[in-house]
Amino acid sequence: MKNLFLLSGDSVSTNKMPEQCPRCSGKSFYKQKDFKRSIGLSVVFSASAVTCLLFFQRREWLVVWSPMLVALFIDRFFASRSKDAALCYDCALIFRELEPSEIDKLDPFDLEVFDRHQYSERQE
Ligand SMILES: [Zn+2]
Repeated sequence: MKNLFLLSGDSVSTNKMPEQCPRCSGKSFYKQKDFKRSIGLSVVFSASAVTCLLFFQRREWLVVWSPMLVALFIDRFFASRSKDAALCYDCALIFRELEPSEIDKLDPFDLEVFDRHQYSERQE
């Protein structure tokens, strides 16, 4: 069964990072937690909605901020359980089951690099 919490999209399982992306032959990759961003976002969104509600009910600050604390714990919990995955900057292909030493060689997502890839694609 497919894990609903994992990043969605096409993926390959490999323990060594390839030189080139097998799908688009891109050479730039980044690492990130293999966890669906939409779930994290909805947790934070629900927590801030409850926080607003409690704030306007003039509760004590600890009560007001407790949903955000809960959200933080949920976030940390899933982050600690999630494995790292690598993604291709060009086509977002997901690489799973990589050796930790292979993941360590990669940098986290960089918007500048991403923009460069998107931009150069449009130039062609
Ligand atoms: Zn690719």
